[in-house]
Order: sequence, then structure tokens, then C-alpha cells
Amino acid sequence: MKLRILLYLIVPAAVLVVASCGRGNEPLRGNTYLLGTVLNVAIHDGGYREELIEGMFDRVAEIEARMSTSTADYDTTELLAVNRAAGETPTSVSADTYEVLQEALYFSRLTDGAFDVTIWPLVALWGIGTDGAALPDQAEIDTARALVDYSALELLPDRRVHLPTPGMGVDVGAIAKGYAADEAARILTEAGVEHALLDFGGNILLIGNKPDGSAWRIGVQRPDGERSSFIGVLTLSDRSVVTSGPYERFFEQDGVRYHHILDSATGYPAENGLSQVTIIAGRSIVADALSTACYVLGLEEGRALIESQPGVEAIFVTEDRLVHLTEGIGDRFELTDSDYTLAP
Ligand code: AMP
Ligand code: MG
Repeated sequence: MKLRILLYLIVPAAVLVVASCGRGNEPLRGNTYLLGTVLNVAIHDGGYREELIEGMFDRVAEIEARMSTSTADYDTTELLAVNRAAGETPTSVSADTYEVLQEALYFSRLTDGAFDVTIWPLVALWGIGTDGAALPDQAEIDTARALVDYSALELLPDRRVHLPTPGMGVDVGAIAKGYAADEAARILTEAGVEHALLDFGGNILLIGNKPDGSAWRIGVQRPDGERSSFIGVLTLSDRSVVTSGPYERFFEQDGVRYHHILDSATGYPAENGLSQVTIIAGRSIVADALSTACYVLGLEEGRALIESQPGVEAIFVTEDRLVHLTEGIGDRFELTDSDYTLAP
């Protein structure tokens, strides 16, 4: 986080590096640091200029500045304002923020609170990913847990947002990357781009297919490995692929690992035998929301949820190194790592 602010001071525009110019068959590439992660884009159509990527990253920076709840990065954002006004008056927000809250509330309802947009009191208490991460007291966990209740979030006319109880708060960390990827893709598509790959810290969004007409091949990362080691390959076009896992952000205390995906039913990081969940969907916000939700729900309930969602597929990896696929994946997933086995 601090690195990003530092880099911002040196380079005023959002784009830190835009390498290669899309000459010949080389894609036009850009990368930057936003949303707490590295964003990469590769545009495979010829004739586009760096300004397109700069504008795209500026849009992502705008989304971050509206919806971040990181007080380390921002003095205020629309969501920090909503959270500070909890128990008081409604807060007006931008169309962006309102839309993301509407989507987040939809997924909170759909998943019966496994995904809960009002998870903020627990996120703030645990502080995972911040310098202050530590195991809270049970009493603190109980107090925070009582404040998590998506059904109390009021999305009022005129884009006003209200939380009825002081201490309540919203957090869109589980879907903001997805929303930003969808917006970035919209900008590229509206500019005429037909073949591109967006990688927002492992949230993948594919525009079209490869320029030669074949599908993209996307590695599904290994839960216990680096980002660059894969358990298998997905062959896809025009989809988003999002993975949630406990290794993304965590801290250790007294030999126990505590990660960033919290179960509002217990107040603790979700533990149910899963190593990671990968969701494939048409929209990245859907894949992002459902990957977090399924990580909380676990294999059985998560799979039932995904099978009920048309056009959405999932890959669950369990701690016993079995790989469970939803029915519709068919031959689009190929297991390549012999340490893992396809579940029957
Ligand atoms: P992801 O990496 O997309 O699975 O999202 C994890 C982030 O979502 C965390 O860092 C929190 O900001 C937030 N979060 C954690 N647990 C939940 C939950 N149960 N429902 C909604 N958001 C959550
Ligand atoms: Mg997510």
C-alpha cells in the first residue's frame, strides 16, 4: 500500500509502466499497482495506444478511491463516509458505489450471508493485511459479529446509503476487483478491442478469444504454491476466472494461521476443508462474489449454489488435494499437476 502511494508521488498518472507498443504480433501491455494488487493488461489487437490503457487504469483508480475502506490509504472514501455515518444520517454515494452495494446486497441475500456486504466490523477487528493484525478476544469477536447483518443495510432512493447502528460498516473487498475488471473490459470493448486479457491480481477477464481464433489457456493456481505454479489449465473465451483462497492474505500467531475470508456465523476465518475455490462466470463481479461466498460455504453448499446459477462453473480444491468440478465445465479444465486428483 505504502509502495503505491510512494509511486504515485513520483508518477502522477495511474500507469506506472506501459511497455511494448503493440507492433507486429506483440500485444500492447500495461501494468500498475491498484486495489492492493498488481494489474496487468495485454491487448492483442493491433493499432491501440497506451492512452487507452492509461484511461482504463485511471478508471480503476477512481473506483478504488470511491470504495476503499483502507484508512491507511485514504483519509476518506465514499464507503468510509457511509461507515462513519452508521447510526446517524444516510450518506449519498456515486452511481458506481451504489451499484456495487446493490450487487453486494444481492449476493448477500443469494448466499444467505455467507457473502455479507456488512462484514466490515469483523474485517476491521481482525485487521488482516494491516500492520495491526492480531487474534481478537472472544468478547470483541462477539460484539463485532452482532453488528454484521446485511438485512439491515438500507439502499435508499437518490443513491443514499444508511446503516442503522453505530459500529456497522460495509466492505466490498470481495467484489471490487471484479467490478473494476468489468469496467476496465467495458472501456476496452467500447474502444473496439476484441482480443485482450486482463489479470487483476489473479482475477482474470478474457475479452474474446486469442487473435488466431483459438481459446485462451488460463492456469488455475496451486493453493500451496506461488502464483506461477498451476494445478491445471482452463480453456476459455469471453469469461472471467476468479479464485479465492486463504493464502491471499493472512497472519500467523502462536503457530496458527488466520486468513482474510471471514465467516460471519463464527466471526473467525472460514475453515471447512477447502484450499481454494475458482469461479468461472461471464461477469467478473459475479465470479468474485461467488468465489468468496463459496469459500465460506464449503464444498457441498458451494457446489449446490453454483449448480443453481446458469452460466457459472466452479473448481473446488479440498485440503485432501482433490479437485471437484461442477458439471458444466466438461473438458474445459485439464488437470496437469500429479499431486492433485480429480474427485470422482
Ligand atoms: P476475496 O479475496 O475476493 O475472496 O475477498 C476477500 C475480502 O473480502 C476480504 O479481504 C474482506 O475485505 C472481504 N470479506 C471477507 N470475508 C467476507 C465475507 N464473508 N463476505 C463478504 N466479504 C468478505
Ligand atoms: Mg471475491
